[in-house]
Amino acid sequence: MVDSAGHNSLDVVNHFFTFAAKILKLNDALAYLIQNTDRELRVEVPLVRDDGTLEVYNGYRVQHNNARGPYKGGLRYHPEVDAIEVTALASLMTWKTALVDVPFGGAKGGISVDPKKLSLREKERLTRRFVQGIDPVIGPNEDIPAPDVNTDAQTMAWFMDEYSRQHGYTPAIVTGKPPAVGGSVGRKEATGLGVAIATEHAAEAMRLPLQGARVIVQGFGNVGSHAAMFLQERGATIVGISDVSGGKYNPKGIDLQTALRLQNEAGSIKDLGGAENRTNAELLESECEILVPAALDRVLTSDNAERIKAKLIVEGANAPTTFEADEIFRRRGITVVPDILANAGGVTVSYFEWVQNLQQFAWPIEQVQEKLAKKMARAFKDTWETAAKHNVTPREAAFILAVGRVAEATQLRGY
Ligand code: GLU
Repeated sequence: MVDSAGHNSLDVVNHFFTFAAKILKLNDALAYLIQNTDRELRVEVPLVRDDGTLEVYNGYRVQHNNARGPYKGGLRYHPEVDAIEVTALASLMTWKTALVDVPFGGAKGGISVDPKKLSLREKERLTRRFVQGIDPVIGPNEDIPAPDVNTDAQTMAWFMDEYSRQHGYTPAIVTGKPPAVGGSVGRKEATGLGVAIATEHAAEAMRLPLQGARVIVQGFGNVGSHAAMFLQERGATIVGISDVSGGKYNPKGIDLQTALRLQNEAGSIKDLGGAENRTNAELLESECEILVPAALDRVLTSDNAERIKAKLIVEGANAPTTFEADEIFRRRGITVVPDILANAGGVTVSYFEWVQNLQQFAWPIEQVQEKLAKKMARAFKDTWETAAKHNVTPREAAFILAVGRVAEATQLRGY
């Protein structure tokens, strides 16, 4: 999919990569090596539906870079998954793991399917068949998948089981598992908690009091719902939330407990009362100090960027801002905490889960959350200092840091 300026998601990532490579004065061949994907795999994923009919989907695993450690990144089940989107998301993972400094590279995978049309058993069969398809390129020291859009802890449990059937018990093959089968406590809420921590740091740096700040969270899935909860705990007022059914806005605050209950029980916040109904598009432009896009990519575009009211945007989703929108926010003085920093809490706790699996030792929640807070604080400080040093935006700074770290590892290892 391209935006109104004809850019796809890979063009956007590559724009920031090229910017960083120039500042870092990387030579062309090294920049080419780092920018492009190491390996791209497309697999056919056949599924016999519950009614006996056969359907065949396209599955992908794109391994972008492993200079700093095994490939790492989530699996997305969505009709818009295609080779370009997965490649862009894999590249973002390389920069994200480098920025928070966990010893991984970047990868992403997915199946071009609408999982909402599948039964639970169909999703299980689809996942197991996909594992068989990508089996030759993954491993606990090679490539470690995780949840992403429309995949969850249950998906990861099937993934681990299918891989373990072939290779023996291997919990470290995938992260984001349920704690009952080797998952880390705190992994499920880690991305949302990381978003709240990043927001706290950014608000402090901008001298924007979080206490009473009005926050809109677009997307009420795993990332958005936890981000909203942790931001409310930190004193912010959540004035708007949304899911695919639409948005809810109340300047006095949304009843989050009821929203969470509805989300769990009915899978949607559609019937939430005590708030005005707004479309997702209207909600993004509604009154607030802080906006957290936590759904899909490219929701902040040249079409709406001029009308965004927020002073601070914290990217819970991957790639929610187009290049044109980013330029408009720069001109308007709106601070954007970029995806590779804002939503890095998920992969950070994935790293903790992988370490626990390798050690066959489980950490308590306090240890997970304390270590996560430290990683986020460090990455935030590095990013803000780099932005000040080069007089660039936080996103440009994050890319300078991340690309620099991957280039250093590549050169040290040799070619
Ligand atoms: N899918 C998440 C992301 O985009 C998590 C990846 C992981 O934990 O490996 O960061």
